[in-house]
Amino acid sequence: MKSQAAALCWIEAWQLLRAMILDRLRQAVFPPVCLVCGQTGRPLIDCCAGCESDLPSLPGQCDRCGLELDRSVALCGRCSMALPAFDSTWPGFAYRDEIERLVQRFKFRGDLAAGRLLANLLALRLSKLRAPRPDLLIPVPLHRRRLLTRGFNQAALLAHDLSAVMSGLPWFNALRRVRNTATQIQLPADGRAANVRGAFRVARLPGRPRFVALVDDVMTTGSTLNECARVLRASGVERIDVWVAARA
Ligand SMILES: [Zn+2]
Ligand SMILES: [Zn+2]
Repeated sequence: MKSQAAALCWIEAWQLLRAMILDRLRQAVFPPVCLVCGQTGRPLIDCCAGCESDLPSLPGQCDRCGLELDRSVALCGRCSMALPAFDSTWPGFAYRDEIERLVQRFKFRGDLAAGRLLANLLALRLSKLRAPRPDLLIPVPLHRRRLLTRGFNQAALLAHDLSAVMSGLPWFNALRRVRNTATQIQLPADGRAANVRGAFRVARLPGRPRFVALVDDVMTTGSTLNECARVLRASGVERIDVWVAARA
């Protein structure tokens, strides 16, 4: 078990190092290009102003889980029935159109530049909304088997990229996925909650943070993030926010 954990740390460390080297090389060699339209981008962000303004924003959302709402109410139906274990959700965008395509490029085709753009766009949005700054960013972990097949944890790369553009806000792989759960895509909302129950544990919380932000690429029902928040809360974290690139 210990050697598996060490192997996992080694794999993640190597993946992050590789991502950073490729990113730096690409930025040093090529001029900035908009990853959406292919035209000239802007320094530090691979997206032109026109494409950025066309990205699917969330005008109204649930205060707690970030669900898109068209009526001006504070909480969605689900949160009014039972509040989630996290305190607040800060989604960058709605999960559709170009944002959906960028997430797919990043997650399933290993396009790390698309991931970096999503992190940069989320950081801009968080700063515009004056999101409170947590003590620590914690990515949603992948089970080691999924990590080996995909090659990288997209949430860890997002946390790393967010940290880089947010003045070194620290991030740490504080959670472990101890059970390889079935993929959530085909499951109904109540099945998703049962599917992830007991799937995570806290490995270590450096500096005993009081306020953390969980980081993930896409939030769908929020069951996975809710379970991660539940174990962090049980470990004494007082405030848990959710930072996601996109809200489905
Ligand atoms: Zn563009
Ligand atoms: Zn809600």
